[in-house]
Amino acid sequence: MNAEIISVGTELLLGNIVNTDARDLALTLSELGINVFWQTVVGDNRERLTAALGVAAKRADLIITTGGLGPTCDDLTKQTVCAAFGIEMYYDQKAEEDLRAYFRVGKGGQMTENNLQQCWLPVGCTPFYNTCGTAPGCGFTTPEGKSVLILPGPPKEMNAMMAHGGVDFLRTLSDEHILSHNIMTFGMGESRIEDMLRDEMNALQNPTLAPYAKEGEVRLRVTAKAASASQAEAMMAPVIADVKRALGDIVYGIDTPSLEDTVLHLLLERGATFAAAESCTGGLIAKRITDIPGSSAVFRGGVTVYTNDVKLLLGVKPETLEAHSAVSREVAAELAECVRTKLGADYGLGITGVAGPDSDGLHAVGTVFVGLSTARETYVRALNLGERTDRSRVRTLSANHAFDMLRRSILGLPVA
Ligand code: ATP
Ligand code: MG
Repeated sequence: MNAEIISVGTELLLGNIVNTDARDLALTLSELGINVFWQTVVGDNRERLTAALGVAAKRADLIITTGGLGPTCDDLTKQTVCAAFGIEMYYDQKAEEDLRAYFRVGKGGQMTENNLQQCWLPVGCTPFYNTCGTAPGCGFTTPEGKSVLILPGPPKEMNAMMAHGGVDFLRTLSDEHILSHNIMTFGMGESRIEDMLRDEMNALQNPTLAPYAKEGEVRLRVTAKAASASQAEAMMAPVIADVKRALGDIVYGIDTPSLEDTVLHLLLERGATFAAAESCTGGLIAKRITDIPGSSAVFRGGVTVYTNDVKLLLGVKPETLEAHSAVSREVAAELAECVRTKLGADYGLGITGVAGPDSDGLHAVGTVFVGLSTARETYVRALNLGERTDRSRVRTLSANHAFDMLRRSILGLPVA
């Protein structure tokens, strides 16, 4: 099935907002095995939206619109779509009840009459009631057999509606079950992985195996099409096993959300904790771990040791700084040890490096030392991330390495 996403909104055309809805939808559709062949952006204008729908109806089987479902006069997507496909509208009573309940609970009972405009939906549609906003969306099939999804613009509402209604509706459009799994890896480049798995990737038709790189990590996506979900799972299992065998311990999970999430669960299972002293990452490790609910059980805390004074305050020895400079293997090791003992954690991470754009006069941009201290040993990984790596990427990759070292240490794998 081929899809076109039509994002409606003058703000998108003007560059005031980024079209994250199209990105999020494209990701969801690709997981469902639906090809997105076109993405269109059109302003809040009836004639131009009608024209865009006409073009889409000629070249796509599935049309998904985002935006323009609200109560104001520039919100004209539903009426325009219905007019374009010759579909009548009806007033949905449940949508009105929903809307009144929303205003009673969240907005102190104040609802202006124009809000009721949102309760009009295409006759014969499957309504998607809005779980975090006001405007309902819907899915339906046009008299010509095209499938249409109408979704709200605010990203939170759009994504929630896809999760609660949209995806189920799309699954009913086809008898095929398309399932995929992501094999998460850290520690080997995309080209090397591709080189190792090329024959397997080329030979596979169903399931397919494809790599994609993201922020220093490589994920391998296995996708299978079958008549049932269990059949698709059975087809993918041997491929996943093969890849795990070939790549070994650089595979840190299947469908796990991130390295830090994996670390969190490993620590939870063992009742263990960690702490971090961060220089060039400026608190990124603390941020990433505390983004995950429940992290207080494993993360004791972090210190941003951005200046030499503060490194000394944490307990780094003046002679170490003097002899080796702040960006050094020795300082990374002492940071890790000090933060572990002072914060009473089982594992301590210490990071020091040059994030750029300017060098510190001694080291190239992208030089980073990541220390990991346990009760028994201290390891340091020396990174050379390359002078072309920008500041934000140096930080992200450094934090990735820190989480990777922690994971490997917990599992008893070689660390440095
Ligand atoms: P509302 O009920 O809030 O008016 P709506 O469905 O009418 O919702 P719009 O009026 O088109 O949606 O957009 C509302 C807000 O949602 C925009 O100001 C913008 O912040 C966000 N938004 C809309 N479309 C997109 C998009 N494609 N990507 C990201 N954000 C979007
Ligand atoms: Mg609006």
